Amino acid sequence: MQDNNTIHTLSSATINQIAAGEVVQRPSSVVKELMENSIDAGASKIDVVIKDAGRTLIQVIDNGKGMSATDSVKAFERHATSKIVDASDLYALTTMGFRGEALASIAAVSRVELKTRREDDELCSKVEIEGGELMSQELISGQKGTQILVKDLFYNIPVRRKFLKTNETELRNILNVFQQIALVYPSLELSLSHNGTVLFDLHKDNFRQRIAAICGTKTSKDLLPIDVDTTLVRIKGFVSTPESAVKKQPSQYFFVNGRYIQHPYFAKAIALGYDRLLPSESKPQFFIYFDIDLDKIDVNIHPTKTEVKFEDEQALFPILVSAVKRALASSCSMPTLMFDQEDRIEIPSAVTDLSAIKTPNTGFNPSYNPFSGTHTPKSKTDGWQNLYDTVKGVKTMGEPCENEYGLKPDIKSDDLGLDVKPKFSGFVYGGKYIICNSEYGVLFVNIYRASQRVWYDRLSDMMVKGTGAGQMLMFPELLELTPAENLTFRQMRNSFESVGYSFEDFGVSTYKVNAIPSMIKDSESIAIIKDIISDPDVDVNGISSVLRERLLINLSNKSAVREVTSTDMAESLVESLFNTTSPMYAPDGLPIYFTIDSNEIKRRIG
Ligand code: ADP
Ligand code: MG
Repeated sequence: MQDNNTIHTLSSATINQIAAGEVVQRPSSVVKELMENSIDAGASKIDVVIKDAGRTLIQVIDNGKGMSATDSVKAFERHATSKIVDASDLYALTTMGFRGEALASIAAVSRVELKTRREDDELCSKVEIEGGELMSQELISGQKGTQILVKDLFYNIPVRRKFLKTNETELRNILNVFQQIALVYPSLELSLSHNGTVLFDLHKDNFRQRIAAICGTKTSKDLLPIDVDTTLVRIKGFVSTPESAVKKQPSQYFFVNGRYIQHPYFAKAIALGYDRLLPSESKPQFFIYFDIDLDKIDVNIHPTKTEVKFEDEQALFPILVSAVKRALASSCSMPTLMFDQEDRIEIPSAVTDLSAIKTPNTGFNPSYNPFSGTHTPKSKTDGWQNLYDTVKGVKTMGEPCENEYGLKPDIKSDDLGLDVKPKFSGFVYGGKYIICNSEYGVLFVNIYRASQRVWYDRLSDMMVKGTGAGQMLMFPELLELTPAENLTFRQMRNSFESVGYSFEDFGVSTYKVNAIPSMIKDSESIAIIKDIISDPDVDVNGISSVLRERLLINLSNKSAVREVTSTDMAESLVESLFNTTSPMYAPDGLPIYFTIDSNEIKRRIG
């Protein structure tokens, strides 16, 4: 009888390759697993070295407890782990890894070289493994801790290699993984370099400093702390002020027991906490750290998944919402349109949606007109768009921007939904401030910051619509860049063009600048570009929204006026300010105005 059996057992090499597919999807998964191993080994310093976005080399060096010579080979066997002995240990788990799969999987699809030494051992064990097979082991001298080199990832699985994305994308994934770990372990010294360039060199920090080092001081400065302790969970962290919410790629991080997770349901809870305080389409930034008993979450987290199942998500939702509300409410340290709860003034019904939320430090109301007691809401852009159109219509090329507010906006009273436009009465004080009447009291406005905000919104709108008006240069200038600058520039070119720049390729890293935004001076146009792209942070945060934000702030700072020379200009400016998305804060987060109301005056002088 013929043997028709077709089932056979797979070789262990094949089994390892299949399993590796689950754990090692891309270079960033290797970085994650290796860094987590270093953390589990008690390292206080971890250096990550990458070449070609991880295709040719991923090296992780730690100063952790190291391994014995025997363990250094055993570590590569599937299901080899020092972290659990049996299933009951799962419930007391405090380490990042426990499945004992990572090293076996990584070794199955690359060439690995491991060097490791425990403190008390004299010699280092050096192990070489290729495609899962042990090639050599020797004892050499070397430093305490563990060093792993992962070379030629997927060299034996061409299909997987082909499946990788561009170097830029893979590097971005690595950056993300690195940042996710760095944000939970501020006490660790961490570095990351790519093709010889140091991208991160982080010292021992506290949480806020670490957030600043990773997401920029602008983000970290505008964070409000959260600290909630319930029987169910401990939640610590930070949420952004409504004014520092961003339109694109917000920093939104959840961590559970030291592990980064994504949680769209909880992200909704955070957004709900802001209620209507966010400018439209803006997203809050947050860094939320959950500390929760292991029996309240599903511990069997798949190594590559970033979702975690909470036992009691429904109960956690309102806890999060109220934590955010409380953080926002407690931030009213600054004088604002609406004062502290006790001496809060009556808010006219047209703006009750603001007062309903008891968070006074949140002045966002696009339809607010500071001079009127009652008004119908109008769209945010009407006011300044009107002003802008008027300004644009008569603007001549190269005209200095200082004059722009001298043109009175042609806002008709019915545009504002009013029968009679309330009269502006105010004056310029000390050259720098406008003091004027308003619905809620006497308004003190910083002219430069107000102008920054108006320009920021205007430019941002232009960028979104891609309608930045450019002025042709009679004599095109040359923008000569270093290769590094050019790399950054290429990512930002579109953003520059959307505000009115026009470039023409002129050699490898040289461009002819044919047009510049009409609102900046010729003499500054090249300097601004250089300024922005040579900033050391830009390279690290090579993410278009960060660059866009930087460009916007830079341009608005340069375009803003520092003084107004007539009451009409003052009126235009204040009016335009209150038609912006966020009149309370300048783009870099500084307050623009404060008010003193009649209660306050009464309190002081009866
Ligand atoms: P797991 O982390 O799930 O235990 P891994 O395959 O990642 O599985 O690692 C296997 C074992 O190798 C770990 O349990 C640990 O004992 C050891 N190990 C791995 N990396 C290191 C390191 N950087 N320092 C010390 N020991 C390590
Ligand atoms: Mg591990």
